[in-house]
Amino acid sequence: MKVFIARNIPEKAIEQLKEKGLEVSINRSRKHLPQEQLIAQCQDSNFLILVGNAKLDSLFFEKCAHLEGIALTTVGFDHVDLAAATKAGIPISNTAGSLRKTTADIAFLLMIAVSRKAFFYAKEVREKQKRSFDFMQDLGIELEKKTLGIYGLGDIGLELAKMAKAAYGMKIIYHNRTKNEEAEKLVDAKYVSFADLLAQSDVVSAHVNLSPETKYKFNKDAFKKMKNSAIFINTARGKIHQEEDLIVALQQGEIWGAGLDVTDPEPISSENPLLEMPTVCILPHIGSATVEARTKMAVMAANNIICAKTGLEMPQVINKEVYMK
Ligand code: NAP
Repeated sequence: MKVFIARNIPEKAIEQLKEKGLEVSINRSRKHLPQEQLIAQCQDSNFLILVGNAKLDSLFFEKCAHLEGIALTTVGFDHVDLAAATKAGIPISNTAGSLRKTTADIAFLLMIAVSRKAFFYAKEVREKQKRSFDFMQDLGIELEKKTLGIYGLGDIGLELAKMAKAAYGMKIIYHNRTKNEEAEKLVDAKYVSFADLLAQSDVVSAHVNLSPETKYKFNKDAFKKMKNSAIFINTARGKIHQEEDLIVALQQGEIWGAGLDVTDPEPISSENPLLEMPTVCILPHIGSATVEARTKMAVMAANNIICAKTGLEMPQVINKEVYMK
């Protein structure tokens, strides 16, 4: 049985697949395959490990309906047409839980970096600009005892809440569709409506999955409801916020700052005015970019494929209904 791996992954995961008798074929180039090449590569494979966010749409599932399992190396699955996968009878797994701490680190880093205008000062140093001391100029704001509002308090949001509470004694409020009782116990998180989350938070951090319900949730109406001193953090997906509205909200002082690991589009245009704002910090989608997390993600994806090959359910399957057919 054969597995196609759409981009290079750590050797440890490849070895595990081979040890279990799978024939492995890999796209070793550093580029994403265009869809027609991905489809062509899958024709003589039983399984696919999809590395990155290439779209798996209804056309893909029509042409690759023979696949017996697809393991994503991401937690997010907004790039996959799950209904089409289920219709084709293909189980899809993700890497839930393998990168919660690593991604929460990036949200935490952005929160502090924005509050202390770190990227703005770092740019000044890099560009060798001379600064004369001014007691009142370019000051940051502190996080101690402030309120952190989490939109989507799941795996990553909970890790961020733990760090924010331990480091700064921050009060945690959150909004989900269902209450997160574990978080309420662990970090004394309080459930609030979305409107209250916007109105009460000093920092709002987005950790929801991208879906039709959450797309552009942070738009001009939402930014208007936030405190003028608030910081907006997004490490989930670029389309959770409306980028034009975010620019206007910052320019008009409706909110104070923003930290983004995800933008719309990616990569961000070099002309984007956000890049010149002193209270904005932007990273190029590096939430899971550590040796440890990438190894865990690849090993988890390989394990899901090994289970599928053995006739077992994939442990991290996201379209469970496929097994009920
Ligand atoms: P998770 O454990 O599934 O948490 C997502 C949370 O969002 C859940 O608590 C869920 O609660 C809530 N939610 C979902 N839909 C909602 C809605 N319509 N309204 C309100 N709340 C909603 O996922 P995670 O592991 O924390 O990951 C979250 C997201 O982070 C992923 O989907 C991915 O897009 C992104 N991510 C980014 C990076 C990066 O590199 N920057 C890395 C990993 C993940 P309810 O179901 O109760 O609503």
